Amino acid sequence: MNISSAIGVFGGTFDPIHIGHLRLACALRDELGLHEVRLIPTGEPPHRQPPYLPARVRLALVQAAVRDHAGLVADDREICRQGYCYTVDTLREIRQQVGATTALYLLIGGDSLLQLHTWREWQQLFTLAHLVVATRPGFAIEHLAPEVRHFWQTRQADDFAKQSAAGTIRTLSLAPLDVSATQIRAKLQANEDVSALLPPAVREPLMTYLHCKKTQ
Ligand code: ATP
Repeated sequence: MNISSAIGVFGGTFDPIHIGHLRLACALRDELGLHEVRLIPTGEPPHRQPPYLPARVRLALVQAAVRDHAGLVADDREICRQGYCYTVDTLREIRQQVGATTALYLLIGGDSLLQLHTWREWQQLFTLAHLVVATRPGFAIEHLAPEVRHFWQTRQADDFAKQSAAGTIRTLSLAPLDVSATQIRAKLQANEDVSALLPPAVREPLMTYLHCKKTQ
């Protein structure tokens, strides 16, 4: 088992990346002792409206946010791919690159877990990676779809020696933080200050982009 090179995968719209995302990526790295966590902004999200920020801006902000954080890497594969991007395809691609024995840890928020049964080939995710869940305020296991709850109950990590490359579920021990990109976009539209919700390295480039857009 290739534990020393275990990799974290954290996909999202990152519209824009916020302090909640960065805190989660660092916690994933630190709690699981990962040498690398890849933050992968999605190109065209299959389940959602087109993002507020264009893909190249969301990627640039993720790159700025991770710059001073050891082990965090911005991964542009979904933005470079044409058409819809599904997590299962991204994980297949990464699995092919890293080989069968490297442990992969896919990080998702509790709200995403509530939707997991709607994701393309969601059961296959467990053949490709472990799932790590970051609960959000209000998260309750009873709200999970029955088929996801079954996975939740039967796949709880019992390999604390980390002997497998995929297949378990665990939660991060981090306390939930009530911050979302939706809140940030709403505040921006109301001309409210969002700096406290953004990683410091993201504030200036985001404000510059929004200012240029307004004055175009
Ligand atoms: P939006 O408000 O636009 O839906 P978001 O803040 O949820 O955005 P996404 O880019 O959609 O951010 O999130 C990427 C992943 O990070 C998702 O799995 C989401 O559940 C998770 N996530 C984002 N913010 C938090 C948070 N504060 N706590 C736990 N998980 C989070």
